[in-house]
Amino acid sequence: MNIILLGAPGAGKGTQASRISDAYALPHISTGDIFRENIKNETEIGLLAKSYIDKGQLVPDEVTCKIVENRIVKPDCEKGYMLDGFPRTIAQAEALDKVAKIDLVINMDVDFALIMDRLCGRRVCKDCGESYHVTTLNGATTCSRCGGELYQRKDDNPETVESRLAVYSQQTAPLIEYYKAKGLLFNVLSNGTPEETFEMIAKKLDSFSK
Ligand code: ADP
Ligand code: ZN
Repeated sequence: MNIILLGAPGAGKGTQASRISDAYALPHISTGDIFRENIKNETEIGLLAKSYIDKGQLVPDEVTCKIVENRIVKPDCEKGYMLDGFPRTIAQAEALDKVAKIDLVINMDVDFALIMDRLCGRRVCKDCGESYHVTTLNGATTCSRCGGELYQRKDDNPETVESRLAVYSQQTAPLIEYYKAKGLLFNVLSNGTPEETFEMIAKKLDSFSK
């Protein structure tokens, strides 16, 4: 099963992705994670990506598409995979259609009013990528999943979040119609807790794999 997680920044894609990946044994492919890994290792792609990410803009389609095309042909993707944060433009979706057959697109719908607080209060595990929120951490500075150190992403500040939201509305939101027209869209409301959202997604995935 090949699935796409769609949604605005702060919709909870990454959080659900790690739960889905654990429960359904699907490799979790996050273009954002791949870019951050490249930035950390100071690769050529990382250097290029950083200039866009720090401004809340999208990394150019050619670069992003190539990364995904190379990733989904790896042996661990043979039985399926989950894309998180890709595609983010119509051009990326069209490129993906040429190399993959997508079975389901999960669109995570969240109130825009919740996003700023979610993202600016987010802390991420340096080692496994799990997301937390300062209000539930109670001062903890390490990951309860793997013990890794938590940090705040550089693009999780009010100014950059504003531009990420504008980019989402202009370039990514049209994908909802794109996949609806193909009959692949599953909408899930993501205003509640991660557990509530996961329950709805799991119900859908369970009915799907039978
Ligand atoms: P979020 O969904 O919280 O914004 P991501 O980790 O998915 O976070 O992405 C972080 C940044 O990485 C984006 O703001 C963008 O600059 C870049 N990026 C990630 N995925 C893509 C993509 N498919 N196309 C272009 N840029 C991307
Ligand atoms: Zn961790």
